[in-house]
Amino acid sequence: MLHDRAMGRLDWLLRMPTEVEHAYERDYGPDRITHLRQSILIGLIVYNIYNLTSYALMADIQPITVAMRLLVLSPGSLIIFWLVPRMSLAWRERMLLVGMLGASLLPLWLFSISQSPYAAYTLGELPLVLLFGNMLLVLRFRYALTFTGVTCAAALLVVYTKPGLDPHLIFPVTVQIVSGLFFTLYGNWHTERQRARGYLAQYDAESRADEAERAGNMLRDMSRTDMLTGIANRRHLDELLPELLAGHEDLVLLMVDVDHFKAYNDAYGHPEGDVCLTRIATTLDEFAERHQGFAARYGGEEFTLVLPGEVKTGGAFLADRLVRAVRSLSLPHPSRPDGLSHITVSVGYAGTGHSRDVKALIEQADRALYEAKRAGRNLARAG
Ligand code: GH3
Ligand code: MG
Ligand code: MG
Repeated sequence: MLHDRAMGRLDWLLRMPTEVEHAYERDYGPDRITHLRQSILIGLIVYNIYNLTSYALMADIQPITVAMRLLVLSPGSLIIFWLVPRMSLAWRERMLLVGMLGASLLPLWLFSISQSPYAAYTLGELPLVLLFGNMLLVLRFRYALTFTGVTCAAALLVVYTKPGLDPHLIFPVTVQIVSGLFFTLYGNWHTERQRARGYLAQYDAESRADEAERAGNMLRDMSRTDMLTGIANRRHLDELLPELLAGHEDLVLLMVDVDHFKAYNDAYGHPEGDVCLTRIATTLDEFAERHQGFAARYGGEEFTLVLPGEVKTGGAFLADRLVRAVRSLSLPHPSRPDGLSHITVSVGYAGTGHSRDVKALIEQADRALYEAKRAGRNLARAG
């Protein structure tokens, strides 16, 4: 099932979607770079061993073969060795293709210009070069295809056009070259397919895990948010308050109750009451945010704020500002029995000076709120 999903996203050239390709590079790029650099060094040593065989097989052009290998291909390989960790993913892989084409076309050219009767034996080295590029470096499949195709075409061209090649050799050599190349290309396809499928499956699994985490976070956020007002709900307050009180910071807890709100509902209807509550909630939330604190809807038309600060020195100031913040919204409330004509709140507050117990702190603030109501509303009282 996993592999089916992954397979659907691989094209026939075994290319993964770009974002997956980049994720692969992030995860495995450093490993590949290490592998490539080791392989290049090993390949370079083995490749230069063929300087010795060319001494026997292409004696007539021995100086050229040695010069080509030592002065062109070896420095070229070392430059690639240096560049591999310094290039982007796309250019690194293309550069490997160019390097490998150099390594396969050069011996073919040397073979084509050699007059030695043994030169045909050097064709046996060709599948080894292909083996190196396709199976050891593991060129990306699309580049392995290009590499193999170009090398095959060049090899056949040279074999069929080289003057003086024993005609008996042409057919067997063709079969050897083509089958050798095909095997290495098949090996490359197989390895590359395993790599891409394996990674796509891993990528899918990781994406699903991320999705699940996101969905989980969303659900958790939803379960902590008050549906009507959009601010934190009682559940969130209940979760957070013990955590906050477990610390050592001085905090002020404020219980806020909307004044004469039943009369507001009676006058304007419940839906308008909801709109009004939402406006108040937003104001309280912004107030809390401005003071690096937290606001939640406690229930009904009551809210709780927890703000950092010392109750004796800052509590009254904070609570008064909060009362004023709501009053200055100037939300009309003409049906109040007390002569005022705007929405106001009463506030009772308590600090963590005496106790850091959740229940005790809320009860203390609640008692203070009751006092504020009794004292005439639209004001704050300390607990
Ligand atoms: P007080 O100044 O003493 O607090 O008077 P009050 O009228 O605000 O207090 P009371 O407890 O008598 O009434 C609270 C009202 O709040 C009654 C209820 O209909 C209203 N209320 C509670 N929750 C909601 C709500 O979600 N939406 C609306 N529209 N009204 C609500
Ligand atoms: Mg109330
Ligand atoms: Mg009320």
